[in-house]
Amino acid sequence: MKNHYRVVVIGGGVVGTSVLYHLTRRGWTDIALIERSELTAGSTWHAAAGFHVLNDDPNVAALQSYTIKLYAEIEKESGQSVGMHMPGGYSLATTPARWEWLKAEAAIYETLGIGARLATAEEIVADCPIVDPTGLLGGLFDPYEGALDPHGTTHAFAGAAKKRGADVVLRNRVTALAAQPNGHWRIETEHGTVTAEHVVNAGGLWARRIGRMVGIDLPLTPMQHHYLITEDLPELVARKDEMPCVTDLEGFTYLQQERKGVLLGVYERNPKHWKTEGADWDYGMELLPEEIDRIGEELSIGFARFPRLQQIGIRKWVNGAFTFTPDGNPLVGPVPGLRNFWAACGCMSGFSQGGAIGLVLANWMVEGDPGADIFGMDVARYGSFASNDKYLRETTAQFYARRFVIAYPNEELPAGRPLKMTPSYDAQKAAGAVFGVVWGMETPQYFADRPDFIEQPSLRRSNAHSLVAAEVAATRMAAGLLDTGVYGRYEVSGPKAAEWLDRLLANRLPPIGKLRLAPMLSPSGKLIGELTVTRLAPDRFWLVGSYHLQEWHLRWFRDHLPSSGVTIENLSESWLGFSLSGPRSREILARLTRADVSDASLPFLGCRPLDIGLTQAVVARLSLTGELGYEINVPASQQRALWEAFQEHGAPLGMKPIGMRAQDSLRLEKGYAVWSLEFAQSYTPAMSGLDRFIAFDKGEFIGRDAALAERAAGPSQRLVLLAIDALDADVTGFEPVSVGTRKVGFITSGAYGHHVKQSLGLAYVDRSIAEKPAPLTVHVVGEPRPARILAEAPYDPKGLKLRG
Ligand SMILES: Cc1cc2nc3c(=O)[nH]c(=O)nc-3n(C[C@H](O)[C@H](O)[C@H](O)COP(=O)(O)OP(=O)(O)OC[C@H]3O[C@@H](n4cnc5c(N)ncnc54)[C@H](O)[C@@H]3O)c2cc1C
Repeated sequence: MKNHYRVVVIGGGVVGTSVLYHLTRRGWTDIALIERSELTAGSTWHAAAGFHVLNDDPNVAALQSYTIKLYAEIEKESGQSVGMHMPGGYSLATTPARWEWLKAEAAIYETLGIGARLATAEEIVADCPIVDPTGLLGGLFDPYEGALDPHGTTHAFAGAAKKRGADVVLRNRVTALAAQPNGHWRIETEHGTVTAEHVVNAGGLWARRIGRMVGIDLPLTPMQHHYLITEDLPELVARKDEMPCVTDLEGFTYLQQERKGVLLGVYERNPKHWKTEGADWDYGMELLPEEIDRIGEELSIGFARFPRLQQIGIRKWVNGAFTFTPDGNPLVGPVPGLRNFWAACGCMSGFSQGGAIGLVLANWMVEGDPGADIFGMDVARYGSFASNDKYLRETTAQFYARRFVIAYPNEELPAGRPLKMTPSYDAQKAAGAVFGVVWGMETPQYFADRPDFIEQPSLRRSNAHSLVAAEVAATRMAAGLLDTGVYGRYEVSGPKAAEWLDRLLANRLPPIGKLRLAPMLSPSGKLIGELTVTRLAPDRFWLVGSYHLQEWHLRWFRDHLPSSGVTIENLSESWLGFSLSGPRSREILARLTRADVSDASLPFLGCRPLDIGLTQAVVARLSLTGELGYEINVPASQQRALWEAFQEHGAPLGMKPIGMRAQDSLRLEKGYAVWSLEFAQSYTPAMSGLDRFIAFDKGEFIGRDAALAERAAGPSQRLVLLAIDALDADVTGFEPVSVGTRKVGFITSGAYGHHVKQSLGLAYVDRSIAEKPAPLTVHVVGEPRPARILAEAPYDPKGLKLRG
């Protein structure tokens, strides 16, 4: 071990070694991996080491596909066998709902170019004769499913990295970490001190403890997991090829061939945490005692689905632990608030995701950009609330128990709730609000018309459809009132605030009392934010974006802050409000203030402090519904008074409270795009249409050169609004869009336009199609449906109402 390295990676599991390898591939070789014990000594050594492409987040699925394709390469480069078996795998459907879900999934994998295909029950049983066909309707075959040797894989990553110049230091625990004034890290180990520019926490089962060394609490926790390995099965001994893997989604079990026997793993519905704070420092390569009673129910379902297991001996039980985060995806990237401290942990699927984590982290460290939309893995997708013990336990247990359960787009899950509520939560609940959750914040989805209303989870339009229709109608006819607790709000002030924002944002800054939409770009010209910027005073601005991006945005702001002259305050919890929009919204506002709210006094994209009822508000004139509208921001403690004021003066004029579902319907009728769906870090201004909010002539700003180059060359895809001839369901995202059999794009979001009475979807399609529209086909819940590009928004295309 040298005294100083450019990077020290802590942890020699499959993830840490992949990070090490990918850094060397990017040309960084002055790097070391420090391992407490032996390589694989955490979760890795006893993993079932199965891999697959399929993931609920299609961006993560694409990265899993990269990981799997990498194995042949590292085997060749290192000379170390990874023990790869890839017979493919079936996910079984044994209920009609699952079969429908798998068909919809198959269409999404088509978008990603992953060759998954639907299989009949007969095909599955012919391929995997140990499957009992009772109730089997079919399945989804993933050709990229299989298993590895965990020892060989980890050593292959490490061996290839060593060949490229990296050091691997074994049997040496990192005991303390301290940030140095020069931004480097001082790393204390059992065998001496070393300094490094960057530290990567790939500590697996110990990652939370390593986080605590630098004063952070990562939202991850180990949980137990069981599998068993059987004696040889004669039918597998007789078989020349390898039997595909089988996941019985309704049975909570997965099965893969293990030599001539099988391995059966269980995702039990009553999961158990283990060492929530992280494993003990001296925890060895030990197994936990098996708890067969706890997993008995799932085992009996498994033994019924695979009846041969009832007749064959069990060679080995494994109960081990690996880490989970609230959504089951890993924590990757620069840790907010720390300089040069990187996360590569919380990974429950190291053999599907380890390669991708290494790739994006190395890109990020070397180039300042992960190179893909990895928000679903980004350590900054959570805030500190997610590390609360009860929250973490409830959400990880929910994820674990539902690992194989269908996730419906209209389903709201209960774990860790309610946590954050706006002051009018109870009042909205009394008015019928059914809440979803965004970053811990309870957010009305729609308002039920009776207390005992229960929405059925469905891939199709649910029984809440007519409730949403009524909210849309109220907004188009009178006014809709939407809680804006899901906004992230920041105040930027100081003598250098204008100069700094002018460089950070791609649009021109507004004059005092006005607001503008402002894309924020990365140096490579990708989108990093879509914010509204309001100028309240010469050196005082508000930025408004999405609530769930707070840590993500603040990390970007802080990374680009000058040493003095600019202050950023996060107002997201201290300022709340409502969006009021609809033809009668001005009339309602006028009843609540003595100030002049006429168009002359408060024009479109204007902003003014106003007394509204008893509250002291900052009112901005804009809306996401396409109607005349206002965003009324108030100190959090006054939000309830604002609600009461609107109920008293708005309700008599036909105003209704509305939820996010109505908002989605309304915005799609206008073709408005939003962050996370149409705007994301892998998309660009020209493809998304945000280039019309770029002031190319204003001088230097981050991403200008790349955006100019893209403007000159033209984007390869463009965002378009589609009218879809759907029956009883609407698109949700990532469904393929085709011309004939040629795939030309994919959906980003969709909803039923209740006012225009049309199923709508936004989609990225090839530029040639956007410029010369052709009849399209879009998959809706797996069924191909006709669609066409709309030349203009179906509702108020000229924007007259918005400006009214
Ligand atoms: C029973 C079981 C079955 C599984 N099945 C699968 C499967 O089929 N497919 C799949 O993809 N995944 C599976 N997993 C999960 C998989 O094992 C993990 O996703 C993966 O191993 C995580 O790797 P890691 O490198 O993040 O962490 P770990 O493997 O935990 O590695 C962390 C390393 O960091 C070292 N370390 C910690 N603290 C320090 C310190 N202070 N100083 C120096 N070194 C330190 C540890 O010694 C350890 O070697 C399974 C896990 C178990 C237990």
